[in-house]
Amino acid sequence: MLMFGQFPARGEDLVREYRQYIGGEWVGSETLFDDLDPYRGTVMARVPAGTRADAARAVDAAAAAFPAWAELPPAEKQALFLRAADVVERRRAEIVALLAEETGCAGGFAGFQVLTATRLLRQAANWGYLPVGEVIRSDTPGTFAMALRRPLGVVAGISPWNGAHVLAWRTVVNPLAFGNTAVLKPSEEAPVSAGLLIPEIMEEAGFPPGVINVVTHAPGEAVPIADEFFDRPEVRCINFTGSSATGRILAERAGRALKRCVLELGGYNPLIVLADADVDYAVEAAAFAAFFHSGQICMSARKVLVERPVYHEFMDKLVKRAAALAVGDPADDGTVIGPLINAAALDRVSGEVREAVDAGATLLAGGDADGRCYRPTILTDVPAGARIHSEETFGPVLVAQPVDDADEAVAIANSTRYGLSAGLITGDNQRGFALARRIDSGVVHVNDQTVADEPQLPLGGMKDSGWGRSGPASMHDFTEIQWITTREGTGHFPI
Ligand code: ADP
Repeated sequence: MLMFGQFPARGEDLVREYRQYIGGEWVGSETLFDDLDPYRGTVMARVPAGTRADAARAVDAAAAAFPAWAELPPAEKQALFLRAADVVERRRAEIVALLAEETGCAGGFAGFQVLTATRLLRQAANWGYLPVGEVIRSDTPGTFAMALRRPLGVVAGISPWNGAHVLAWRTVVNPLAFGNTAVLKPSEEAPVSAGLLIPEIMEEAGFPPGVINVVTHAPGEAVPIADEFFDRPEVRCINFTGSSATGRILAERAGRALKRCVLELGGYNPLIVLADADVDYAVEAAAFAAFFHSGQICMSARKVLVERPVYHEFMDKLVKRAAALAVGDPADDGTVIGPLINAAALDRVSGEVREAVDAGATLLAGGDADGRCYRPTILTDVPAGARIHSEETFGPVLVAQPVDDADEAVAIANSTRYGLSAGLITGDNQRGFALARRIDSGVVHVNDQTVADEPQLPLGGMKDSGWGRSGPASMHDFTEIQWITTREGTGHFPI
């Protein structure tokens, strides 16, 4: 049996077995479940099918660790985060290989995940030094009034499989940097890269027991773990990255439990190409935005809106570009399009494309699968009734639509229920900036595409794409303000 950090080469006949991490201990479980390699369909690891009792112990451990962690001086927290970044960097090749094997992630996106994780840890190392409050003038003579931030307590993180490693770090690092402790529940599709790898690295970096805890669960068994999070008073916030459908369930539950929740959800992200754009650049931007990580990124471009004078040239070039993207084993150098995460995802994506074509859409590229990999697909003339017209399809599928002018593009961009990321390609940055201000989206990149993440920048959605912003801006979500006054002398009370 191999455990923790021992990654046999592919093909070696060894299945790793993992444990959960609770209160600084690696704890086993009566039942394990199979963690599958999405490209091969083989078992890559066996992972604890954790229970509500495990979640309860994890919350206990996080609550016990909270007072000391909250009080730990910033310099000591800083040293821990910096050491963790060094460990991630040292284990880069192993993490990239794991992401391919567990999540079908090709090298380009895996490298991006590792790089962004190290940058996040190094940025967050300094967040302990951000100002924690304000002095506000009081109208009461002799009163000195302050608004001081303090951590919430235990933050429960629920992480997804798609950007497994970087999003798991984001789920816990932001809360921890502001003095909270954490329980992480990773996706059942990526319990190692989005879960158990995190405390393994943090333990090596020297984080105290209980500060981070990870509970895993069998497929479809998230709810008992979430029940514990919602029922426990020590858990003050749910930090979730995932689909809008699940986000809505969690927000409803958080409302009933009067807990905070931070939600980074889905998007139907538009890329607008104006007539004055450099068409070759716009094609590169669109191919990347739509097909990087097989379109399984919340910020992936779902619709490209192109001004008519350049529409045909742009589409001809984009169709050729899409057809040339390398499809196959994510562990091979040069692969861009790896497998979708599981058979259900492949069925869903191909079903939605078929539905659109049956309803009258024109297929310009792709539309079929190579094994578990869905080929880069471009559709046009998609009727409004087809799901793909305005709902996120979590795969390499781009809808193209010509527009008469920038106003029409902005109106279409704003017509969905989502508002996560948008890109707008134009030769005129000034005009692009003015248009960006009219797009209802948490992120707009002018003269760039939709997929970007830098840990210090406030990524987050409007409308059904979520609540809250990542980075230092998350201090608002992961701390609360206390109004404290001190009074010189004695006051007069009018009764
Ligand atoms: P996807 O369908 O792409 O896996 P989800 O939003 O369902 O996206 O999954 C994101 C995370 O949410 C995963 O960790 C998953 O286990 C978790 N999850 C799914 N449903 C629930 C639920 N009802 N309560 C709590 N967590 C859930």
